[in-house]
Formats: sequence, C-alpha cells, structure tokens
Amino acid sequence: MLDTARIRQDFPILSRKVNGVPLVYLDNAATSQKPRSVIRALVDYYERYNSNVHRGVHTLSMEATDAMEEARQKVADFVNAESPSCIIWTRNTTEALNLVAQGWAMEHVAAGERIVTTAMEHHSNLVPWQRVARERGAELRILPLAEDGALDLSDVNSIIDTRTRLVTAVHVSNSLGTINPVKALAARAKEVGAAFLVDGAQSVPHMPVDVQDIGCDFMAFSGHKMLGPTGIGVLYARREALERMEPFLVGGEMVLQVSYEDATWNDLPMRFEAGTPNVADAIGMGAAVDYLNGLGMDRVREHEIQITGYALDAFGEIEDLDVFGPADPEKRGGVIPFHTTEVHAHDFGTVLDRRGIAVRTGHHCTMPLMETLGVAATARASFYVYNTEEEVDVLVDAVKEAMRYFLDGSR
Ligand code: PLP
Repeated sequence: MLDTARIRQDFPILSRKVNGVPLVYLDNAATSQKPRSVIRALVDYYERYNSNVHRGVHTLSMEATDAMEEARQKVADFVNAESPSCIIWTRNTTEALNLVAQGWAMEHVAAGERIVTTAMEHHSNLVPWQRVARERGAELRILPLAEDGALDLSDVNSIIDTRTRLVTAVHVSNSLGTINPVKALAARAKEVGAAFLVDGAQSVPHMPVDVQDIGCDFMAFSGHKMLGPTGIGVLYARREALERMEPFLVGGEMVLQVSYEDATWNDLPMRFEAGTPNVADAIGMGAAVDYLNGLGMDRVREHEIQITGYALDAFGEIEDLDVFGPADPEKRGGVIPFHTTEVHAHDFGTVLDRRGIAVRTGHHCTMPLMETLGVAATARASFYVYNTEEEVDVLVDAVKEAMRYFLDGSR
C-alpha cells in the first residue's frame, strides 16, 4: 500500500489551511497537486539552463533539448509507446484531441461515413467530433449508457459498422468514474478498419496504461492531472497514424526545407510541434512521471480502489443521497459523483469549502451525460495518491452536515 503520510510531506500545498482548517483536497479529477520534485524541476530549468531547444549549439540550448527529449522518453515508457517519436507535446488533453480531429479526421473521414463516441464523453471528446461530422457530412453515433453507469454495448456491432472511420472513448469517465472496456472497443474498431482514439485524461494518471496492449491508434492525456505542471499535455499516436496525419499548426520548427513558394515537413515528432515548445513544463511532466514511477502505478491503482471502496461504503449509508457510477470500486476510478434533489450541488460545494474541503460541482464538462442522468449538476469528490480515509471521514461528515442544514433547516 502507499505510505500516504510520507507522500503528503512531498506536497507543500497540503499543509496549508483553508478557512482556518486543514485543506482536504478532493478535486484531483480537475487537477492534481504537485510534489516538490516537480516544482524543483521547473525552478531548476529556469535558474540553470533556460534556453530555446533544437536550434542552438550552445551549452544551455543543448542541455534544455536533452532534458526535454529525456522527458519525452520517460512519457513514452510510462504508457509503453513504441518510440518517443510517437509522443507529441500539446498544451493539454483538449489540444491533443483536437489535433486528431483536425490533423487526422478532417483528412480521412468522408461524407456518409461514421464517427462513434460514447454517452459519457467530456466535451473535449465530443465537440471536436460534432465539428468534423458537420464539416465532412459524416454521421456521429453515440454508444449509450447502461443503468449501472457502464456503457451499453448490446448494439456495439451495429453502431461500430463498416462505415465507421473513427471510434473514440473516454478510458475513465470524469463524471461517473466508469472504466470503459477500451481493449474490446479497439478490437471492434480494428475489425471494421476504423482508427481508435482513447481519452486517457483520467486513466494515465491513476493506473498502469499500456497503449500497445490496448491497441489504440491515439491516446490523449494531460500533465496537470498526473502531478505535473499545467500547460503540457500529450498525444500518443502510432507511427503509421502519425504518418497519415497533417499538421494543423505550421511555421517554425516543424519544417525541413522552406522556399518562398513552398515548404516540406520535419521528421516526427517535430512535424506536429510548431513554434517554441513548452520546454519547462515538458521537463516538469518528466519529473512527475519519475515521481509516479517511484510510487509504482500498480500501488497507485490499489490505493485508489481501497479509498474509493471506503468512500462508496460511507456514502452508501447516507439516506437520500445518490452516488452515480458502477458500484464496484474495481470497475471505477477514484471519482465519487453525488447528488440529492434537496441540496444544490453548488450549495454542497460552498458548505464543504467552509470545512476546508475542495470538491468540484457542476456538469463537469459532460452536459449531455447530466441530461441522460436527469440532473443539472453533481458534486464530485476525486482522489489521488495523497488522500486518506481520514479525509473521506471529514468529507462524509461535512456532507451529512450540509444535508441536515438544508433538509431540516436546523441551522
Ligand atoms: N477528458 C477528460 C475525461 C477530462 O476529465 C478532462 C478534464 O477534466 C479533459 C478531457 C480535458 O482535459 P484538459 O482540460 O487538461 O484539456
């Protein structure tokens, strides 16, 4: 098991107080906190070798280039990519998904063909496909939700049919916690000759992920949700997929030869990284990967199953409170969305904040899913490596108190 007491000492922010009480940070699905080693990697870069990459022959530039490329290798190893040239730096998951939409789908999806996604996608993995479908005259199909918060795959073979060019699914839902069967979806996509894209924003930070074992063509994820800095994300793509993709940003760094009339593209991965990259944050993301590897991703996952199971049991005892998503902690990530008709999610958020507890409230960028669930908003607690069962106890007490406050009017 993870030694959370020791881990917490690595995160300076966790010792601060909010509203006079210790911070209980349970908004990790939105963004994670950063260990000292990540913060130090950023400071070290700016204090010792800040420089532009790839273009210089001077020492600082070579050091910065080496450090950024080393980080790329670490990220490639972390998800078992076949080569670091399959790792494209982006700003975040959203940009990585849009890169596939603009660079791949706009090229390869034709009128009358299909794009298939799911009913539980983050807007970032839905809106780009609405746009591609509209602009290409393609059809967007949605794999529906089952009662238990999993995907209903009873019609999967007719929805993912031979007209389908792209299948995409969130690996772990940020709104339900559901872990989707991405390997099976990849296999079905392959059967019909479609590409398969995984939104790994909530899986890569929390469990061992192997892109080759899944068999996906693309996977998108963000540094800031896995202990790394904001402003850096990743698109993993199989080499053959990258070779069939057009860059959607053009300019410096991504070209090989330029004349007044024309230009040829640089090798992979630089072809997709126009302009000066986010050197500092890529290095910071490498430090985050080191930290997670030090903990061991199997143990990270085990810890989350344990704390999620503990929280589900405790929440299960609160009358009139609905918890969405699969009941079995083995089938979900560390995300607990809760809802009652009597207390608005934002009121939960405000009352919990007074007790120093940070949770997210709202639609979690999944408006169509909220509609399917028949709610306007939920409150969501989400866990990571530094969270403890004691913090779950504080949360559950505060939720009960909020419900008493609003239901009984007992102030
Ligand atoms: N996909 C999922 C499942 C997410 O949870 C999020 C962020 O919450 C995103 C995509 C978008 O991530 P980012 O805001 O880092 O681009």
